[in-house]
Amino acid sequence: MLELEILGSNATAPTKEGPASCYLLHTETGLVLVDAGPGSLLAYCSRYGLDQLRGIVVTHMHADHSLDLMAWAYRWTFPEVLPRVPLFLPEGEAHRVAAFDAVFGIPTLPTMNQPITQSFGITAMPRDGRTVHEVDGVAFRSFAAHHSVPSAALRFEAPDGRTVAFSSDTGHCAPVAEAAREADLFVCEATYLEADEQALHGHGHLTARMAGSWPPRPTRATWCSPTSPAPPTGTRAADTRGRPSGEGQCGRPREPVLSRRSRRVRLRRSVWTILASGVAPPNAVSTACPAPGWEP
Ligand SMILES: [Zn+2]
Repeated sequence: MLELEILGSNATAPTKEGPASCYLLHTETGLVLVDAGPGSLLAYCSRYGLDQLRGIVVTHMHADHSLDLMAWAYRWTFPEVLPRVPLFLPEGEAHRVAAFDAVFGIPTLPTMNQPITQSFGITAMPRDGRTVHEVDGVAFRSFAAHHSVPSAALRFEAPDGRTVAFSSDTGHCAPVAEAAREADLFVCEATYLEADEQALHGHGHLTARMAGSWPPRPTRATWCSPTSPAPPTGTRAADTRGRPSGEGQCGRPREPVLSRRSRRVRLRRSVWTILASGVAPPNAVSTACPAPGWEP
């Protein structure tokens, strides 16, 4: 089993719609957090126990994907010290965590001298598309996205073969397309409706249209994050669709986004939910076999 729950997907910072980037993978036995954008801890704790968390994977160290790491670490070390869980970071980025710890570590509390380092077992992810990591029984690999800092697209593969891929922040590039190739679900982040060359290819981002038409080799489903700022009312798939076939579509909170085939998207309890066949639990995206006749 491998299911996705979108806790938050707001670019740059939380909004009234929810946290910045943070996603939960539901495995057979627990939960894996992908990205720890601000608001992620609160969203998580409102519905799950800390003892259900099996690991955290951070795609890159921009604040909207990682700022809550310190909040998680504080919670992990106070009022009681919880068992360490794995934390995966792009290779070469551990120094940012060390700097974070240096700023917010508490010298007079031995368990919080270096909160993140003390809370989590840190593993560096080579973004080579080959090295296989494992978290809670799910294998995953990291691919080099095109972004202003080392950014890792991710591909998770459950023992039953179901796959979920994440683009991370990225511009178009071959490694991310490879990460998403024939995945059951591709979570593709788009920051803009319109943007100039520097934002897209210099900084490394996508517009909704670019995300919707990507990757070039079809996946079974594509989901694109809401853009920020929110597009004007009435901006719907017709404005963001990348292909006439509508293989990928984008939207904003409270409007249907996505998808082809069977999945439906709805907002429930302030999180995006995508349900397949009615078999997925609430607030989850199932990668179970899609049912025919989905309606957006
Ligand atoms: Zn970024």
